[in-house]
Amino acid sequence: MTETFDAIVVGGGSVGVPSAYSLAKRGLKVLVLERRSAVGQGENKAAIGGVRATHSDPAKILLCTRSLEAVSTWKQVHGDDIGWKPGGYCFPAYSEAVESTLQGLLPKQRAFGLVNDYVDADAVAELIPGIVREGLRGGTYSPNDGQVSPLLLPVILMRHAERMGAQLRVHEQVTEYLVEAGAIRGVVTNQGRYEAPIVVLATGSDAARDGQLLGIPIPVTPDSHEAGITAPVEPFLAPLVVDLRPGPENKTVNFYFGQNHEGQIIFCYTPKDLFVGTNRESLSEFLPTLAARMISLVPRLKHLLVRRVWRGCYPMTPDGVPIVSNVDGIRGLTLAVGMCGQGFMLGIGVGEEVASLALEGKYLLPKEASDTLRFERDYSSGKKEALK
Ligand SMILES: Cc1cc2nc3c(=O)[nH]c(=O)nc-3n(C[C@H](O)[C@H](O)[C@H](O)COP(=O)(O)OP(=O)(O)OC[C@H]3O[C@@H](n4cnc5c(N)ncnc54)[C@H](O)[C@@H]3O)c2cc1C
Repeated sequence: MTETFDAIVVGGGSVGVPSAYSLAKRGLKVLVLERRSAVGQGENKAAIGGVRATHSDPAKILLCTRSLEAVSTWKQVHGDDIGWKPGGYCFPAYSEAVESTLQGLLPKQRAFGLVNDYVDADAVAELIPGIVREGLRGGTYSPNDGQVSPLLLPVILMRHAERMGAQLRVHEQVTEYLVEAGAIRGVVTNQGRYEAPIVVLATGSDAARDGQLLGIPIPVTPDSHEAGITAPVEPFLAPLVVDLRPGPENKTVNFYFGQNHEGQIIFCYTPKDLFVGTNRESLSEFLPTLAARMISLVPRLKHLLVRRVWRGCYPMTPDGVPIVSNVDGIRGLTLAVGMCGQGFMLGIGVGEEVASLALEGKYLLPKEASDTLRFERDYSSGKKEALK
């Protein structure tokens, strides 16, 4: 039997769930199809939960500003605890080059209304107690950024979407997209067949495979990253910290960590040599490299007890900017893929954009920003974003 919906969202992850939420809020009868056992079990649960509007790409700044507005007021508006912890982001600078890159981004960020500032070394040391002072020049601080629990947010958003009539089917993998006369008609899964005039593709690291099924080349290539979490300690660290130094072991590009709402320190780094693919087995070199990196920045953190580590993927596009777009030639199909290392923070902003694209056929964002999100764009400029 074929069931009919107003919209089908394929993938119940960082962007699929908020997309379903936004579509349900607009009154649509929405179906979410997720191949795993629950929402948020793909790359979403690998995220450390950082939510910042501090970017260099205008679309990311605007989408994440929207996400921040929603997550920072979620408890007051809806009553649920999503693990929101304010405290901002701090990027310390130990070299003139990093200092000038960070300072160079401020005018653009301020033009979009962000209250980010460059603060001196004393202020950075106050924000990050115990940070190594030698060579510390200062850093940028963005007080309105923060953290949210990647385990709580998708579950709570899905619950709200369900209250508005959305349905979730887990263990359902989309195996076929039904396209007729230049328009999407629905999908086939391992369990059944569903029809809808709107289909949102939000399949994260698997997006290129869906592109093959649809006959459109979706340029998403996952590379894997590791993270970890410690036992809780007394709250001492307000901001999420991004250290842009290459690191003492020269295996990492940057390193970031923060203390979450439960007191745990949550951390990860970007490896110098990227691991392309979807391998999720933890590497033995991760923890020793990470520990050296963390202690070189804040020596007192050597006392932390690490509880567990994990590995997940960044679904990368060639230019490091997501694809949030309708597709010429397939009416009713909206892509929300290629979220790179920021899909969790982009989620709610992207969800609202998806609803507008699917229903009105246009972006909410101004054209200058939305052009970078289009599927039909020139990806050849490479990874041009200064803050990824
Ligand atoms: C170590 C690490 C730390 C990170 N930290 C952060 C952070 O602090 N902040 C941040 O914003 N981002 C962070 N990220 C990045 C973030 O996790 C990803 O960008 C984001 O989760 C991608 O969202 P998505 O919805 O595209 O993919 P996913 O969350 O993976 O969702 C896609 C879903 O689609 C499902 N699916 C796939 N194919 C099908 C199919 N055919 N049928 C049905 N279902 C299907 C999958 O099972 C999955 O649940 C981090 C990533 C890693 C690895």
